[in-house]
Amino acid sequence: MSLVVQKYGGTSMGSIERIRNVARRVARSYDAGNDMVVVVSAMSGETNKLVALANEISDFPDSREYDVLVASGEQVSMSLLAICLKSMGYKAKSYNGWQVPILTDSAFSKARIAQIPDTNMRADLKEGTIIVVAGFQGVDAAGNITTLGRGGSDTSAVALAAALKADVCEIYTDVDGVYTTDPNICDSARKVEKVSYDEMLELASLGAKVLQIRSVEFAKKYNVNIHVRSSFNDNPGTMVTKEDKEMESILVSGIAYDKNETKIAVMRVPDTPGIAAKILSPLADANISVDMIVQNVSEAGLTDFTFTVTKADFKKALAVTREIATEVAAEDLVTDENISKISIVGLGMRSHAGVATKMFQTLAKEGINIQMISTSEIKISVIVDAKYTELAVRVLHEAFGLAGGE
Ligand code: ADP
Ligand code: ASP
Ligand code: MG
Repeated sequence: MSLVVQKYGGTSMGSIERIRNVARRVARSYDAGNDMVVVVSAMSGETNKLVALANEISDFPDSREYDVLVASGEQVSMSLLAICLKSMGYKAKSYNGWQVPILTDSAFSKARIAQIPDTNMRADLKEGTIIVVAGFQGVDAAGNITTLGRGGSDTSAVALAAALKADVCEIYTDVDGVYTTDPNICDSARKVEKVSYDEMLELASLGAKVLQIRSVEFAKKYNVNIHVRSSFNDNPGTMVTKEDKEMESILVSGIAYDKNETKIAVMRVPDTPGIAAKILSPLADANISVDMIVQNVSEAGLTDFTFTVTKADFKKALAVTREIATEVAAEDLVTDENISKISIVGLGMRSHAGVATKMFQTLAKEGINIQMISTSEIKISVIVDAKYTELAVRVLHEAFGLAGGE
């Protein structure tokens, strides 16, 4: 007998008919003799609706109450699934995050899981009960409801699989695995059989929302193999797992894009030691993470200092930067909200020269101007005008031979 953790995303839970489909799939696995823990997301679109309601009431909704609100979508879907399973004659029981309990820190809307005591779940599993857990939700030491960040149900599932030492962790979504790029914008995207934790970490952090980045961090830390697959068919999906020799031989394994960044440039500031720290420290103090940074070669003692922040942080970042710009006597402040980050990722890049050149040449051939560049051992990212996103992804996918057979 195996212990199986399955997670169903918003689209998979998106209607009563789809919830019935999920119940049938859960029942099939249970009938095959497995202990079942099922994690569910809110029905598709529901979390966005809740977020919009909060923003309608206030520009800066109270963070504790915001989490109470947005966590409610998952309570609806978990109870519907449990009702459905019970109506089919199965023993099932729904759990909110606090009922498990999934203990987290108190960082509302981006809480981190600290611990998951398993006594309650073990007792129910022993009696043959199918456990349905609300994804995305946690509870802090003071008993406040917390949430794990957008897309956080993936993390709930992987953390539960780690805590229960599950044999399998299956993430069911609306595509049948991890692809070489988003199959919804590139027709020739190809499903990959296996991807390493490190590659998946890069892909997830660079915009491939198929798995939340924290779920992959958890999986790597606790050695949980994740099987990403579709809830609409029985195709084998993608295993996210420890790296092996075969993976290292693949130069570029995937392409990601992220339209969620914005650019702020502080123009013509005196190029003196400490200028970068002067500009960036107030942003850090305001809890704003800066992603890419470029400082130009100085001309006549003046330099341009450019960085990117997420769309959500843009307004706050701009207000902070305006103050600093005056303080450091910058001549101008320029912003751009229509940018996109395009990234290529692959373990093989570690040992191959020329990958960056090929990327830049491919984009140049299409007349796509590169505004910023950043690299790590296994990825190269560039910032381009957002209108080129799909084109850039497609030509790079082609140039690195990702559409071909494995
Ligand atoms: P769920 O609601 O099941 O959590 P998400 O919408 O969060 O699903 O994630 C699935 C989506 O991720 C897909 O529909 C796809 O558009 C997007 N995606 C982006 N990059 C990739 C990729 N490399 N492989 C597969 N899907 C990707
Ligand atoms: N419902 C939450 C969201 O939309 C969590 C999730 O779907 O994983 O972000
Ligand atoms: Mg998701």
